Amino acid sequence: MAKKMVYSFGSIKTDGTAEMKELLGGKGANLAEMANLGMPVPPGFTITTEVCTHFSANEGAYPKGIQQQVEKGLVLLEKEMGKKFGDQENPLLLSVRSGARASMPGMMDTILNLGLNDTTVAGMAAKAENPRFAWDCYRRFIQMYGDVVLGVRPKTESDRDPFEVILTALKKKRKANLDVDLTAEDLMELVAKYKAMMKKDFKIAFPEDPWEQLWGAISAVFQSWNNERAFIYRRLNDIPDEWGTAVNIQSMVFGNMGETSGTGVAFTRDPASGENVFYGEFLMNAQGEDVVAGIRTPQPISELEKVMPKPYKQLLAIRKKLEKHYHDMQDVEFTIEDGKLFMLQTRAGKRTGFAAVRMAVDMVEERLIKKEEALLRIDPNALNQFLQPVFDFADKKKAAGSNLRIAKGLAAGPGAAAGKIFFTSEALEAAKHANPKESYILVREETSPEDIKGMEAAVGILTARGGMTSHAALVARQMGKVCVVGCAELEIDYKKKIMTVEGRKENLKEGDSISVDGFTGEVFASAIKTNPSEVIQVLVNKKKKADKAPVYQTFAKVMGWADAARTLNVRTNADQPDQSANAVALGAEGIGLCRTEHMFFGEGRILKFRAMIMAENEKDRRDALKKLLPMQRRDFEGIFKAMAGRPVTIRTLDPPLHEFLPHTKDEMKELAAELGVSLKKVQQRADDLKESNPMLGHRGCRLGMTYPEIVEMQAQAIIEAAINVNKKFKLNIVPEIMIPLVSHINELKRQAAIVRETAEKVFKAKKTTVEYMVGTMIELPRAALTADEIAQEAEFFSFGTNDLTQTTFGLSRDDAGTFLREYLADGILDSEPFASVDVNGVGQLMKIGVEKGRSTRDDLKVGICGEHGGDPKSVEFCHNLGLNYVSCSPFRVPIARLAAAQAALKDMPAPKKKAPAKKKAVKKPAKKAVKKTTKTKK
Ligand code: ADP
Ligand code: MG
Ligand code: MG
Repeated sequence: MAKKMVYSFGSIKTDGTAEMKELLGGKGANLAEMANLGMPVPPGFTITTEVCTHFSANEGAYPKGIQQQVEKGLVLLEKEMGKKFGDQENPLLLSVRSGARASMPGMMDTILNLGLNDTTVAGMAAKAENPRFAWDCYRRFIQMYGDVVLGVRPKTESDRDPFEVILTALKKKRKANLDVDLTAEDLMELVAKYKAMMKKDFKIAFPEDPWEQLWGAISAVFQSWNNERAFIYRRLNDIPDEWGTAVNIQSMVFGNMGETSGTGVAFTRDPASGENVFYGEFLMNAQGEDVVAGIRTPQPISELEKVMPKPYKQLLAIRKKLEKHYHDMQDVEFTIEDGKLFMLQTRAGKRTGFAAVRMAVDMVEERLIKKEEALLRIDPNALNQFLQPVFDFADKKKAAGSNLRIAKGLAAGPGAAAGKIFFTSEALEAAKHANPKESYILVREETSPEDIKGMEAAVGILTARGGMTSHAALVARQMGKVCVVGCAELEIDYKKKIMTVEGRKENLKEGDSISVDGFTGEVFASAIKTNPSEVIQVLVNKKKKADKAPVYQTFAKVMGWADAARTLNVRTNADQPDQSANAVALGAEGIGLCRTEHMFFGEGRILKFRAMIMAENEKDRRDALKKLLPMQRRDFEGIFKAMAGRPVTIRTLDPPLHEFLPHTKDEMKELAAELGVSLKKVQQRADDLKESNPMLGHRGCRLGMTYPEIVEMQAQAIIEAAINVNKKFKLNIVPEIMIPLVSHINELKRQAAIVRETAEKVFKAKKTTVEYMVGTMIELPRAALTADEIAQEAEFFSFGTNDLTQTTFGLSRDDAGTFLREYLADGILDSEPFASVDVNGVGQLMKIGVEKGRSTRDDLKVGICGEHGGDPKSVEFCHNLGLNYVSCSPFRVPIARLAAAQAALKDMPAPKKKAPAKKKAVKKPAKKAVKKTTKTKK
């Protein structure tokens, strides 16, 4: 017997459940679940994703037995609906809907009203109270089927949609403003014209046979899995190509039957702010995508209560039931056919970062979910939105006062964005490519899936049409972009590349600056200054009181829960006292990487530093270092003070010296004067220091090997600073001195000896001591492979995954830009290895490093300080490896804290059935994680 490839849903029989998303796709699984819950779902069946995978792998061939299964599924529908597919008098019409495992809004194609032809339409029209609706369905069907299945599309980019051209012309002729103003006769004429156009311009005869229509539609949905926009969407959202889509075949219900019918979309809570209010839009006498396409401006859902009180009440009950069942905010689609409500879709709704956090907190308080669940549900990167800037109040007021507020639309994606406007995605992308530092705002009538690349490149999106659930709004929220939609005052002329604003003389041209307020929907014709967010105001700038900051409160709650759940420590990479203080405010528990060289770029310092590196002998170098010593000591004192006893890891000088060399003639002259030598001599010395591959050259501990006096000075500065601060502030700072780019134990032995001898000297001179540690970066494959030897000398390890990635791949980060992009686009690499740890390669070396290191020294403290320390996936990997901490840039600290909590929660043994999870279970001692790694050592 052939494998089961078709799963029914409806009131007679439902095969699927919500858990079966892999097989049935999200839409199919949830339609089945709603049917199981007894909600009014038009019956249908789902063809599995496995069929899609087979279809893709076999050049469009179907697995055996599919036809019989589909036919059987259809018989069931006919039974439940009391109609027959292709019947002349009472035809069953179908929708053919794609639905992958993860929702891909607007990416795949849906076909409605399938089964209509010249005969069935007549039957349907004769049966209906108002024949108009049958013809409306037919013309829609031809339009959709023509586009999606038969390829009746504009032939060049600048052409208009061939169906739209005919429709617009007819509307004009009939003086009809809207589609709904066309009569049954008009629509009949339209159908004839559509068919004639297809024949004449595309040499295509519209298929009259319903079964041919059905298989054409099914194949088109499967094929759409591989169209370009679906492909781009998958890349942007990390969805594997192998998943495939399911196809849902469902009996039609009609929202376009007249004034007692309609269709709408809704969120069970506000997807922008997270507020617990029913939220959505609907249109009466409409079908399918009318609501989201921005053809007519829809009404807010609360209006439905007046228009159709009964289905509205029913909808409210379903809202409650769905949230209770799914324990999450749902995004639903519904249709009302002659006063009767039908549910067409439900799924977890996309939301802004703000909303995600607010809802999670609210739902815990409403006892809908547990804290653990709330934590697992928030995408750590969503926290970014809490840290992003808002408009400067005064500057915004000024702009409003100078009559620069030009329009107001719907606030669909919160945040503040100012930038240069572009009217097409291509133009915006090109501008961004030419000048990546500038900010851009995409302005469109409405966006479509083709725009996602442009939206990705923009800081903000502004549309003239469409509602809160339009494509622009949905996608922007997901991307975390500032977005204002439905700004009716705007008129955009794509040809002239200008936008006119109602009631204003002057136009805005491509490249002009505007500001878009995603909190209020306001649009300004100038670039408004932005300010830090509420969270930053409270925590970092201390300009706002916590009790007056509701957004901060929500954020703080989640962070508190996260801290209780995680076992991994979170440190920061910082090398200035103020940076360090900011990081502590954002929750950093220490400094994982203090780069000493950054301190030398400060004012009045670079010249002294250059004098040191240009010195030709030890004596000159020591003289130069003497001048640097007090500066370094002061820096370290500042940092130690800011960190108030938290651990601080300081790395000795690392970068290739060429990074500090004077580059211009003026700089060389200045240096020559400082040194009291000739310009020629400086040029000569600079030439001597040039390397052909500095990244692998004279850098890291190799500098300390040839110039031990540099390390001496740095060690002295660190130890003295620790002693001074400990004394002055009664702290117990234990500085961690870290040697970079070690590949051989002997390098570390020598460097550690220098540090220890220097420390002894300081102790003697100061007649006091301080505890300190000497450790190393693990950032070369050889160091990872010989970590057991290295741990004999090193008291701690820190994975420098930037260099470790470079050296493992043999790939220079600075030169990778050109081809790495293609690697990612072509799927050669799944993810950017400098952003997320390459688990199979670099990760292996890390695992070896941890295991070997701890085989020598079982209490070895291990952390990570590469960029990866703030990447949620990498944080999870580090947790599982049993690291003690991750270290990341200050503004990623909250993200790492949440990611670490998620890793700990996922790592917990599944709770035994019955026994409710105890509070204590959240916190797991770090030890355990460490042990796990040692166990897998064999
Ligand atoms: P998408 O995944 O792009 O949202 P859908 O498959 O949900 O596409 O279909 C888009 C719209 O088509 C739905 O929101 C709904 O309005 C309409 N639609 C789909 N199936 C039916 C149906 N069986 N009856 C009536 N309308 C339908
Ligand atoms: Mg669609
Ligand atoms: Mg849908």
